[in-house]
Amino acid sequence: MSNNITGQNLRLHWTDFIGHVPQNRPANQVAFTSASYSINFGIAQAYASIGMRVPNAQNDLGFVVSNLQIKVTLNRHLMWSVTSAQTPELLAHEQGHYDIVALTMSDLFNDLLSPPTVMATENDVRDFARALQTEAARRIDAMESSAAGDGLYDQQTNHSLNQPLQAHWDSAFALARPPTGLRFDLALGTQNITP
Ligand SMILES: [Zn+2]
Repeated sequence: MSNNITGQNLRLHWTDFIGHVPQNRPANQVAFTSASYSINFGIAQAYASIGMRVPNAQNDLGFVVSNLQIKVTLNRHLMWSVTSAQTPELLAHEQGHYDIVALTMSDLFNDLLSPPTVMATENDVRDFARALQTEAARRIDAMESSAAGDGLYDQQTNHSLNQPLQAHWDSAFALARPPTGLRFDLALGTQNITP
């Protein structure tokens, strides 16, 4: 099995919002998008992972993440929208909620496969991977809204109503997509967004 990430290019449609609008929704919130991710991988000797057979060199190459499988999925049953509020602008804002997860996972996928140094032991790989996953989760939690309150994205964009700030976020999302394909954390940085 090779390394793979799925779901990072999904585009939202209003038909994805199949949940019921909650009675107690905040007055300034007219839609809700929910995305999840799963991360699975093994650990392999680097020489095996890259298909090399170098006598006596196996240990020098150490261990790496292998069979990395990241899936980003939409939780359609948790998603809702107020029908009268279904504008293209709001859908683009909701796409941003998905993209925060998808693009952070895309960065994580690349980082897990690009160790900065040789990992001498399997535990080194576990520690390396755990630190990256913790940071990715922290960034997503900082940007996304939850029952605990609005995250940075909704705080700054006021749920899409703050158009100048929404444009900054839109620029970051666009820069992280083809043709530029910048890392998402760097794309956010170009807009002075620091989760
Ligand atoms: Zn929002």
